[in-house]
Amino acid sequence: METNKPLIYDLSNSELEARMKDMGEPSFRAKQIWVALYQTFRISPEEITTLPKSLREKLADRFAFKALTALREVQSEDGRTIKTLFKLQDGNFIEAVLMYYEERRTLCISSQSGCGMGCSFCATGQMGLRRNLTSGEIIAQVMYYARYLAEMDDKVTNVVLMGMGEPFQNYDHVMEALDRLNNPEALGLGARRFTISTIGIVPKIIEFADEETQYNLAISLHSVDDSLRSQLIPINRKYPVDELIVACRYYVRKTSRRVTFEYALIQGVNDSIADAERLAHKIRGMICHVNLIPLNPTQGYREQPTQADQADAFCAILEERNIPCTIRMRRGIEIQAGCGQLATQMESKS
Ligand code: SAH
Ligand code: SF4
Repeated sequence: METNKPLIYDLSNSELEARMKDMGEPSFRAKQIWVALYQTFRISPEEITTLPKSLREKLADRFAFKALTALREVQSEDGRTIKTLFKLQDGNFIEAVLMYYEERRTLCISSQSGCGMGCSFCATGQMGLRRNLTSGEIIAQVMYYARYLAEMDDKVTNVVLMGMGEPFQNYDHVMEALDRLNNPEALGLGARRFTISTIGIVPKIIEFADEETQYNLAISLHSVDDSLRSQLIPINRKYPVDELIVACRYYVRKTSRRVTFEYALIQGVNDSIADAERLAHKIRGMICHVNLIPLNPTQGYREQPTQADQADAFCAILEERNIPCTIRMRRGIEIQAGCGQLATQMESKS
């Protein structure tokens, strides 16, 4: 059965070379396959016409090429946001979103099917964890859109891990996937075009800082008050705000890179002027940026997004204290582009 075969996207360059050697093939075959997969976005051995037919057949026998099946695709009214619901080979669901923004083509991809962190406001959290994705399944999401865009003579410019899942709960596979995508002989986007968003798994933030990669780091903060943050984000009980902030400061010191704080504005919950002042105080002096995102309503959480006036006032407090801040309008709410929303719908139907 297809699913018992190793997924070709799970192999690193050197693993692919080793497999070719085992199969008695010359080493340049690995390079040809690599280019076909990651530069011309071929999705099956039959399409890799640079290879002899006999090798194409052998590849089809030994490897799985299909990681994902696109089940549903929805577009926002303006056509600038496209969201795809994928089924994995074992029947689990994930989602990925393509966003057009000026010259940018940003992909928002998943690192897990579901998420075990249980954040109350998040559709993926409400669904629970199904499983970690393999590195190949993470890569396949990017390849799907890279191929889609290539057909229109366009290309992916940025990749953010802000889809389903907590990337730092699947650290090794995420790093393998990014390293492979970032390889100059693959997509070759450059590390600074990738962003990992985490809910705040402190030991992994430290490990990530120590690796000194050029990938961007975003932290989903949402509150600096431990009792409120623990209500919203259960893992805060294990990694409370002060420890998280210390880890962020360590990251900035170690990498000299700016950290981004994500803050979902929830009406009457975490959006008061006093909340803004506490936030400003907590992150004072840090090289950072705050993204304010009005809550995207989900089925399992009945709070509402902060209104525009209050969001502006919140942002103004941060700016007065020299903390760069932007209010990001959620894109594609009408197509359920919020994290996990399409997959939750799908599961509740099945
Ligand atoms: N698990 C990671 C990455 C995926 S979530 C993390 O939490 O950082 C991507 C972003 O969307 C995070 O900042 C997350 O906190 C936020 N988010 C999740 N549900 C949301 C909602 N209903 N409204 C606004 N932002 C939400
Ligand atoms: Fe998981 Fe992030 Fe959603 Fe929390 S906000 S449940 S960590 S995906």
